[in-house]
Amino acid sequence: MDKIKCPHCDKNCIPKLWHYRPAFGTFRYMVTQHLCPFCGGVMYESGGKLTALGWSVTVLMGAIFCVGFIAQLFKSKNIIDISIGLGSLAFWGFIAYQLFKRFSKRRR
Ligand SMILES: [Zn+2]
Repeated sequence: MDKIKCPHCDKNCIPKLWHYRPAFGTFRYMVTQHLCPFCGGVMYESGGKLTALGWSVTVLMGAIFCVGFIAQLFKSKNIIDISIGLGSLAFWGFIAYQLFKRFSKRRR
């Protein structure tokens, strides 16, 4: 493994690895912290992405929210309310998609 310059003490070293479970650990992979063996500082972290279970829960929550929102809209029986609601839903879906695309591109 290549030596990396520690951002805390400026020494070149091979980082020690420390694994831990992040917040919402059931839905995420372990995070690997790369620790400096000289000063113990965290040089960088990797991992912590959502697992398949995490993704399905996220998608499920989104789906429940959308269905609830649409059901709420159709209660009003006012065509303008419904079209404004669906329009804004499509708008936010588009924004979320754009953000997701940008986010996933940056991480890879
Ligand atoms: Zn250091």
